[in-house]
Amino acid sequence: MKIAFVGGGYSACVSAINLKRKYPNWDVCIFEYNNILLKKLKATGNGRCNINNISDDYNNYNDDKVKILLDKYPLDKQLKALKQLNIYTTELTNGCLYPMSLSSENVCKILISFINSLNINVKYNCFIKDYYSKNNKIYLCDDNNTQYEYDKVIFSNGTSASFKLGCQKTLLDIFKNHHYAVSLFVPNLCPIKVKENVKSLFGVRFKCQVKVYYKDELTFSNYGEVIFKKDGISGIVIFNATVKTFDNFNDKNYKVVLDVLNNKINEEELLSMYKLNSDPLLSLIPQKLINYVYNLLKINPKNINLDDCKNIIFALHNLTFTFAGLYSLEEAQICRGGISIDNINLNNMESKIEKNVYFIGEILSIKGISGGFNLKFGLITSLNLIDNL
Ligand SMILES: Cc1cc2nc3c(=O)[nH]c(=O)nc-3n(C[C@H](O)[C@H](O)[C@H](O)COP(=O)(O)OP(=O)(O)OC[C@H]3O[C@@H](n4cnc5c(N)ncnc54)[C@H](O)[C@@H]3O)c2cc1C
Repeated sequence: MKIAFVGGGYSACVSAINLKRKYPNWDVCIFEYNNILLKKLKATGNGRCNINNISDDYNNYNDDKVKILLDKYPLDKQLKALKQLNIYTTELTNGCLYPMSLSSENVCKILISFINSLNINVKYNCFIKDYYSKNNKIYLCDDNNTQYEYDKVIFSNGTSASFKLGCQKTLLDIFKNHHYAVSLFVPNLCPIKVKENVKSLFGVRFKCQVKVYYKDELTFSNYGEVIFKKDGISGIVIFNATVKTFDNFNDKNYKVVLDVLNNKINEEELLSMYKLNSDPLLSLIPQKLINYVYNLLKINPKNINLDDCKNIIFALHNLTFTFAGLYSLEEAQICRGGISIDNINLNNMESKIEKNVYFIGEILSIKGISGGFNLKFGLITSLNLIDNL
């Protein structure tokens, strides 16, 4: 049996290793556009590789259909599979699991040493630009118009997020021609741009409740650290909002509301604090934010009355920014979009449209929030593929 993987990222490498262990005589080949495997994996978790998460909650993804896969491959099965790859994990904050070495480079070395010792073929610097089926075989076609014949082909080609770590060219048009429901790649797990001038807030970071409204309807609410950029807002909580909301990413009807005031304080209390002749906001929020709020409300802090205090408290509970778009693909950790999960048989990851064609990992439309959920998805789709191939 001849099997090809198009794309040599985490999903493909884990799958190819498990496949070759299960069927040592099968001919397994990985086609990779770059001159190395696992380029993106090496950059994950700031070089520490947040490889998984203890949570199997499907709410961590943009599509409830992931539950079918999470129920089939719960955490104990995921960790067993990682141990069989000599990857032992340790939990840091918020259920995030990292390799004990805290090194993504080490994880890459481990996987590559298995690829080499199992004699898995790898064709580097090879971009697969097209494919077709004929007489129950799948033919891959590369940039030099060389054709390769396989019994089964697995597309594990990821997305264009941080494309310097992967591949800028996509096969989305090719998949469309093969009648897949394909949605365009949209940057996700990235900062957002806002319409307001936030230059003066550049570098300010604080923890707060973040709410996103679309035309007055609450679409996202979570607590976390936000970090201001020159023209927008970043931070994990904002990254996660990009996965869970901003579906109409060209629509400017989203408002991001920050509840900056974590403590309850009423206007009388605030006024009495002002009367002590020091700025009470100094004990509540960063200086740059204090200036921003006084500017916004056109308030002179030296001359404050009860109404001003009311307005200040309201503004701090409802610091509102107008969504002006997502940051670029280059700054995104993942992309929304790809092959619709509805086109995939979740019993074995095979296409419902074409026989002997499979899809795993980030090329599929299911995306997770930050915290190890995307590598978790890569792993469970890979396990589901190999167990049922
Ligand atoms: C900076 C950064 C940090 C991240 N940190 C984390 C983290 O800590 N935890 C987490 O869970 N997720 C993280 N992610 C997301 C995670 O890395 C991806 O979801 C995951 O790598 C996807 O794996 P994959 O195998 O599906 O695709 P990829 O890893 O993207 O691999 C796809 C491969 O296919 C190749 N390719 C594409 N098209 C072709 C073609 N036509 N022919 C040949 N080769 C092709 C590409 O070059 C690429 O090597 C991070 C992402 C980035 C960018």
